[in-house]
Amino acid sequence: MTTAQKETMGFQSEAKQLLHLMIHSLYSNKEIFLRELVSNANDAIDKRRFAGLSDPALLEEGVELGITIDIDEDAQTVTVSDNGIGMTRDEAISHLGTIAKSGTAQFLESLTGDQQKDAQLIGQFGVGFYSSFIVADEVTVESRSASAAPEEAVLWHSAGEAEFDVETVTREQVGTSVTLHLKADETEFANGWRLRSIVKKYADHVAVPVRMLEEPAPVAEGEEAPEPGYEVVNTAKALWTRSRTDVSEDEYKEFYKLVSHDFDDPMTWSHNRVEGKLEYSSLLYIPNRAPFDLYQRESPRGLKLYVQRVFIMDEAEQFLPLYLRFVRGVVDSSDLSLNVSREILQKDPTIDSMRSALTKRVLDMIEKLAADDEQYQTFWDEFGQVLKEGPAEDFGNKEKIAALLRFATTISEGATQNQSLAGYIERMKPEQDRIYFVAAENYHTAANSPHLEIFRKKGIEVLLLHDRIDEWLVSHLGEFDGKAFQDVARGELDLGDLDESEDEAEQEKVEETYKGLVEKMNELLGESVAEVRLTNRLTDSPACLVVSEDDMGMQMRRVLESAGQAVPDSKRTFELNPEHPLVEKLNDEADMDRFNDLAMVLYDQAILAEGSQLDEPANYVSRLNKLLLELSS
Ligand code: ADP
Repeated sequence: MTTAQKETMGFQSEAKQLLHLMIHSLYSNKEIFLRELVSNANDAIDKRRFAGLSDPALLEEGVELGITIDIDEDAQTVTVSDNGIGMTRDEAISHLGTIAKSGTAQFLESLTGDQQKDAQLIGQFGVGFYSSFIVADEVTVESRSASAAPEEAVLWHSAGEAEFDVETVTREQVGTSVTLHLKADETEFANGWRLRSIVKKYADHVAVPVRMLEEPAPVAEGEEAPEPGYEVVNTAKALWTRSRTDVSEDEYKEFYKLVSHDFDDPMTWSHNRVEGKLEYSSLLYIPNRAPFDLYQRESPRGLKLYVQRVFIMDEAEQFLPLYLRFVRGVVDSSDLSLNVSREILQKDPTIDSMRSALTKRVLDMIEKLAADDEQYQTFWDEFGQVLKEGPAEDFGNKEKIAALLRFATTISEGATQNQSLAGYIERMKPEQDRIYFVAAENYHTAANSPHLEIFRKKGIEVLLLHDRIDEWLVSHLGEFDGKAFQDVARGELDLGDLDESEDEAEQEKVEETYKGLVEKMNELLGESVAEVRLTNRLTDSPACLVVSEDDMGMQMRRVLESAGQAVPDSKRTFELNPEHPLVEKLNDEADMDRFNDLAMVLYDQAILAEGSQLDEPANYVSRLNKLLLELSS
């Protein structure tokens, strides 16, 4: 229940933390507060204009929508006013006192306390209204919602600590005024020239006029200075409507910050106007860093949609596929109707053609980034994981996306994902007809998989897949450039023409020597495995486990199981390396007890080497200890 009286309330704890952080980590970029306030004012005007389309009573005839910045040098205040949509008392309480973004608590936990790093992170989070408190020790917001009567306006006030208060007041104009009482050492901002230059720098392309009082012109002695009037201090023209050649790099960068609330420059952008059957402009940006909530289901995604320069909605997610959700920007259509809604967007066939054209644009932009390895690595490290969702979601662009993927392989240094599939194919052996990969829970397990031994020996490169999504990705790709993907831990290893045919007689001899052992092992392991056989894939390890050709790979199984999905049981084949001294020893072992212990230890080790857990680790430990004791006695 709300009352007209003044109420004092506490900020939500996340909001409190963010406020505190904002003040302490962004003071070297304090002037951005003005960009944030102007951007909020612009959004509010966009919203009012949009609401007015269906309910003209929400607009006042003859009143131009715009933003005004006033300075009171004596009181040391700066006021940013707009005649946008405004806020009701309840809205002011919830919008200015809480943070509704999902994942905020985790985000706050990830902060380091290091001011420089945290400033970067805050940028990813989006700065917003609280940046006022970087320069102000008190902030007052007076607002009247377009749907409220004059006497239902709200006055919100806070000194930026734990609390704020609200009271109901009367306000003639619809809209919002935010007044900052500057801190004693921030009085430089109570200066018209200074504020003008900040508006020019950060908010020139807000599409509505920003007005300030004229600075007094010098007057001759004895003459009276004329009353200064208001003048427009920004370009007030939507940047995307201008021609590409007229817009400077800096303007593009600042516009990005304005629409994205990001703190950093973008990595790259693409600005286009399409004419013909469909008419629209788009200005798409790839950020420098992934937003903190890229993986939150409800995180903001999509573009700002305008129809003939009238703002329609934020987060119009129908214009790009989910795997490009990190792209920010605007699309302005001349074909859609002004009263288009999300539901209509979902069905409208023009959206489909725009979506596929915009998707191509973004993929082209990424392709361009890929021409520079170093820059692409930055892109990949931030967004690669999301791009990997692409081949499954966007079958039509599968090839294009596949060419943009990067992996760690047996030739990479460490876990860096920096090898393209095209590069892999170039390095393939002439007789090689598949793209080999191993998938594991982490890089280390993948890189040390016993399954790689024969590949290392023969100098064949193998992809080391260690992102949870990788095996799924590869199953969707199926092939690249006509070469099928092959899991090296699956099925009988068929190296095709790469297998220099071994001496068959020799091989038969080995089979003969180990026939008894294989039988004994089959008996010992019984139902736990599909089969025991001799291997041709190991050089250094005594044994390994192999998934059968039609079964799900082990890493995919782990991912599905951890997501709580039922996965059908499957048995694996246990392969023994006849050239390993432990296997030779096992073959000669006459003591049944010791045979069992050694055999089980080899089996358990094969499970450990693939990164799986033992069902009964204690048994493994006690067997191993028994064998160690025998060794020393
Ligand atoms: P963001 O703009 O990223 O949502 P802010 O902290 O800047 O976050 O603002 C929080 C919310 O407060 C906005 O989403 C909006 O609903 C409301 N708000 C802020 N400034 C204004 C304004 N000038 N007019 C109307 N609503 C506003």
